[in-house]
Amino acid sequence: IRSSVVLHTHTYIWLRHPACKIEVPERLTVSHEALVQSGLADRCVSIPVREATDADILLVHSEEYLEAVKKTPYMTLEDLKEFTLQYGDVYFHPNIYHCAKLAAGAALQLVDSVMTGKVRNGMALVRPPGHHSMRSAASGFCVFNNVAIAARYAKQKYGVKRVLIVDWDIHHGQGVQYSFEDDPSVLYFSWHRYEHQKFWPQLRESDFDSVGKNKGVGFNINVPWNKVGMQNSDYLSIFCHLLLPVAYEFNPDLVLVCAGFDSAIGDPEGEMCATPDIFAHLTHLLMNLAGGKLCAVLEGGYNLTSLAQSVCQTVQTLLGDPAPPPANLDGPCKSALDSLHCVRSAHRQYWSCLKHAGEEGNSIEEKVWPEPPKRVTPTIRTAVVLPDGVTCPDGCKRFSSSEDLDPLIISKLK
Ligand SMILES: [Zn+2]
Repeated sequence: IRSSVVLHTHTYIWLRHPACKIEVPERLTVSHEALVQSGLADRCVSIPVREATDADILLVHSEEYLEAVKKTPYMTLEDLKEFTLQYGDVYFHPNIYHCAKLAAGAALQLVDSVMTGKVRNGMALVRPPGHHSMRSAASGFCVFNNVAIAARYAKQKYGVKRVLIVDWDIHHGQGVQYSFEDDPSVLYFSWHRYEHQKFWPQLRESDFDSVGKNKGVGFNINVPWNKVGMQNSDYLSIFCHLLLPVAYEFNPDLVLVCAGFDSAIGDPEGEMCATPDIFAHLTHLLMNLAGGKLCAVLEGGYNLTSLAQSVCQTVQTLLGDPAPPPANLDGPCKSALDSLHCVRSAHRQYWSCLKHAGEEGNSIEEKVWPEPPKRVTPTIRTAVVLPDGVTCPDGCKRFSSSEDLDPLIISKLK
């Protein structure tokens, strides 16, 4: 059984919006080309895409929103512009509805292939991405929430009980969070550039203390990066000290990855410094879960070189090749450790693997004891000089003249 790569090769070249400078068709062509050049594509099973049906899309989105998006292919450019303005940072192209259906459908084809055992795992290379889109709104280049739809689809069609969604894209997938924040069957983990809410989408609910709601409390894990320049050590620390212990305890039946590579070095959006080979390790660490059933779905990634290398690292690991020796492991930085401690503390009451989190600084308990009682210095009342041969009276202590007396006693005798 091999890994699969799903591509909607016959359409992605059409989706180019003149106003959008970074979410460009070349993202898929360079990724695919790199897979071919490296010989990885030959080792993969290619799976044909299909369009997501209305029923698939309605698993996550509202009917009103779907109907609105359905009209976009028939809109004039002027109307499209106006339609777009109601959402944030998204560009509607006359062909985007078709492409968005293929992107979501590709994720579902991958889920089908993995759940039926046709392949062990796989990656869907798709555009537009999905993790920002919400029930009734497009956002951040995203139209339909490909991974959220895939999670609901897997639960509905295959009776999957627990789905882990790992979002290693550098942006917070707020759309995924909103979809599952009260659902304990889907554990959503996201790390994201946050900079104390200064970085897009600048949401209060992207911080570490948004842990889920109602029955889903504890099943939403946000790791805010409050500085740029995070490196391999920072990413690995979060995996080793937070995600993996919780993921093992959660024990998912399926792992979905919001595989955005704007978290890699060179990306103009992420401004992080983790190298593409880190994705070999992150992927490898996740492959031990859910019996290896892992579906990665492309999200962001805007430096074409870094993106193509990261895609190859991920796919090569999915194919079972050992990961390269990890580079540049200098230990996590202070800011990453601060974030790690905040998240671990926020979740300590929900996960037994974290129950002692936050005690690191207080492990030496502060001891309390009574102050010693005040001591009274006894006063020396009487000093008597006796001639030799005279007996010392009761209650007195005799010092011979030849004895070396303690200077303190002498000072008190004077
Ligand atoms: Zn992103």
